[in-house]
Amino acid sequence: MATAGKVIKCRAAVAWEAGKPLVVQEVEVAPPQAMEVRLKILYTSLCHTDVYFWEAKGQTPVFPRILGHEAAGIVESVGEGVTELAPGDHVLPVFTGECKECAHCKSEESNMCELLRINPDRKVMIADGQARFSVNGQPIYHFLGTSTFSEYTVVHAGCVAKINPEAPLDKVCVLSCGFCTGFGATVNVAKPKKGSTVAIFGLGAVGLSAAEGARVAGASRIIGVDLNSNRFETAKKFGCTEFVNPLEHTKPVQEVLAEMTNGGVDRAVECTGNINAMIQALESVHDGWGVAVLVGVPHKDAEFKTHPIHFLNEKTLKGTFYGHYKPRTDLPVVVEQYLKGELELEKFITHSVSFSEINKAFDLMLAGQGLRCIIRMDE
Ligand code: NAD
Ligand code: ZN
Repeated sequence: MATAGKVIKCRAAVAWEAGKPLVVQEVEVAPPQAMEVRLKILYTSLCHTDVYFWEAKGQTPVFPRILGHEAAGIVESVGEGVTELAPGDHVLPVFTGECKECAHCKSEESNMCELLRINPDRKVMIADGQARFSVNGQPIYHFLGTSTFSEYTVVHAGCVAKINPEAPLDKVCVLSCGFCTGFGATVNVAKPKKGSTVAIFGLGAVGLSAAEGARVAGASRIIGVDLNSNRFETAKKFGCTEFVNPLEHTKPVQEVLAEMTNGGVDRAVECTGNINAMIQALESVHDGWGVAVLVGVPHKDAEFKTHPIHFLNEKTLKGTFYGHYKPRTDLPVVVEQYLKGELELEKFITHSVSFSEINKAFDLMLAGQGLRCIIRMDE
């Protein structure tokens, strides 16, 4: 390809300061180094994790930075040593990688790759500790190893899943974070039994994907818990059978759920990022067998406080990144499930904006409106 090995100038949305609108401007993107690939991003969407690091209220501030991690695109060029990807491949970049060589990648029990596991504070490439983005020679930092709010980005090859080229990229981009995170948290980690009762805390795209997982697993009651009552109508389409808004009760939500379920839910999946909801999720599960799974990204200073009796009473607490999926091994299979009509991704996509309007996607998420807003990079 004509651009391989050269610096590319393209548009990117740069976060220069915490909480200030992103600036869509020209940046330079260096060629991929050893074991890296340069991707042309076609569609990206906004996940709440991007918003946390942009606000930088509960996370370490790193600026200027190019955010974005839920996306789909095409390989433009590959660096030295990359053998499994070639220009033209359709791909999903993922915020946590799979080197396929470390003890975690070799273990069936882990998706926490030693080399490429999620690291939100890392702002440069692993190979040489440098950023591949710059503006007038000033480095612009990376985010989650993906930085997809750019027409071109450089990613470690181990963080890229090659998928069936027939998959519509404007839909499967939500598999690159939100859908797999929530769906996998339920089906791979919480593992509800048929006929069981599952509570989902937080009914954004991640939580509703978790609800979808509970529905597919055959849960008979799926109780959605959210502070935003507008979520409830939407949640029915994702299998939620009942709703609780903690603000509408004087009792703690744990007690409300215990009364509704004769002692507690069988499984709880927390998808809010709020520490109180995390504690409530654990305390809401039934003693003897209940399992709570944490998915929300916590505030950097958060501490989980609960009485140890919950554990003595045989409640289990777990947490997961990316729904326990191994991105390169499992994501192509999930894409095939979508192509066979087994997964409905369309219902997660409530808005769509052109790249120049990317700040609107932030406004929608801050207002608690909609689920996923697709950002069309070529407009
Ligand atoms: P979202 O903003 O669309 O949805 C979050 C929902 O939680 C909102 O509807 C909000 O009203 C609700 N909520 C907030 N506090 C609550 C509380 N105390 N009790 C009940 N409901 C509450 O966000 P999203 O994009 O769906 O992401 C959800 C969470 O998952 C975020 O914390 C995000 O950072 C995290 N996340 C984790 C992973 C992972 O791999 N573990 C991956 C992606 C996202
Ligand atoms: Zn995400």
